[in-house]
Amino acid sequence: MKRETVLFALALAALLSQAAAAQDGKAVVAAASKAMGVDGLNSIDFYGVAQNGNLGQNNNSNQPWPMTGANDYVRAIDFTQSTSRAAWQTYAVPVTGGAASLAPGQQNINGQSPWALQMEIYITPWGFLKGGLLKDTTATAKTQTIGGKRYQVVTVTGSAKAPGGQPYKVIGYINSQNLVDKVQTWIENPIFGDMLVEAEYNFYRDGANGLKFPGQIIQKRGGWPTFTMYVLGAQANPPNIQQLVTPPQAGRGGGPPAGGAQAASGPTSEKLADGVYRINGAYNSLAIEFADHILLFEPGPQNEQRAQAIIAEAKKVIPNKPIRYGVISHHHFDHPSGLPAVVAEGITIVTPEVNKNFLMTGLSAPRTLAPDSMTKSGKKPVIEGFAGDKRVFQDATRTFEVHVIKGLPHADGLVIGYLPKEKILVYADMFNLPPPNDPVPNPPVTGTMVFVDNIERLHLEPERIMSIHSLNPDRLTTLAEIRASLGRK
Ligand SMILES: [Zn+2]
Repeated sequence: MKRETVLFALALAALLSQAAAAQDGKAVVAAASKAMGVDGLNSIDFYGVAQNGNLGQNNNSNQPWPMTGANDYVRAIDFTQSTSRAAWQTYAVPVTGGAASLAPGQQNINGQSPWALQMEIYITPWGFLKGGLLKDTTATAKTQTIGGKRYQVVTVTGSAKAPGGQPYKVIGYINSQNLVDKVQTWIENPIFGDMLVEAEYNFYRDGANGLKFPGQIIQKRGGWPTFTMYVLGAQANPPNIQQLVTPPQAGRGGGPPAGGAQAASGPTSEKLADGVYRINGAYNSLAIEFADHILLFEPGPQNEQRAQAIIAEAKKVIPNKPIRYGVISHHHFDHPSGLPAVVAEGITIVTPEVNKNFLMTGLSAPRTLAPDSMTKSGKKPVIEGFAGDKRVFQDATRTFEVHVIKGLPHADGLVIGYLPKEKILVYADMFNLPPPNDPVPNPPVTGTMVFVDNIERLHLEPERIMSIHSLNPDRLTTLAEIRASLGRK
């Protein structure tokens, strides 16, 4: 055959097999829908004992997300309206220590919710099948053997599109009994890039009217569980579904949305000493001038926009010098979520060795769903993971010490920064300093005690102490004030 003919034949074969796969996909979903009692299913509610994992808030960056109990867990989904409501009760110990308290939790999803929430409907076994049978979705199937089990693997794409322009996809693994064993999708995340969300469904049970429901649900994000549940019961088409999916006190008024007021205003800064600036915001950052460069402590908190604003402000107050180093206080995701912008700026990220692999793996992952400034810059993350308890930045003009905090439950590899000449200290998260004259808590706050112990261990003599999270009322504080909050002199 001539070359053109060969290419044409290959293209035709590809088209035909794609069409066959597309048909297969809908047929596989239809068969599973029948087997799982989903054909006549418009809504569902189910209940049981659950746990929520806090993504990005692990005590050590290489260990699972911390789980909190979600008792009395109930969830209802109306597939016809794309609405879902879950409610639970959590009895939780505050991260800062102290007495545990009972608090209600909820998750409400409606047709206007972003895909990151909507997908919670479409990665359930029933939602996956419902979505696969919708007119505006495509479904392709292939077979795959995993761990000796043969699966029909169906990829469903719909109309929901990522910021990068491509449709989100949902992949369901249907076993030989036509039950959905596992569903995967990918959503954008500032640290993990295209983040895999994976839900496993085990120990299927029979409900009324042919409904099949899993006895166990395990959802993972970033490789660790973010939600687990033992499903104790499920009901198809509950008659009061509208009531079940309606949040109580919907539209409860009063006050601007959280963070709104602060997000609107750009950063300002405050000179703390020659060449030392606090860059103000909900999360503060510290800019320090050296002879031929700038160092930022907490360069990328909150998000990419915030990091870009911090970088711009640092260059404004310390002009004509590159920002060479960005020292992060710790790995909890609210603190490094702006790091893609830091990488784009060519700044070396500095953190204790314990955090390096985790950050490098996350920041090196593909970011096709929502290309960020790092992707657009073509730069790769440069991370200095330092060994030992201390990293000192020093030249003829300045000394800045970074110390690893010891004995802190909140996070391994959390550091504080100290300017010995200026006697300025910067810290994050270890404790929330109460307003002056508040009663001394009993038991005392663990993080505050650990902070004071470390300052004494290191023989630091700070005169002004800056918190990354603005204090209320906003101010720099002193060691005397922190000691007083413990009832100490
Ligand atoms: Zn933290």
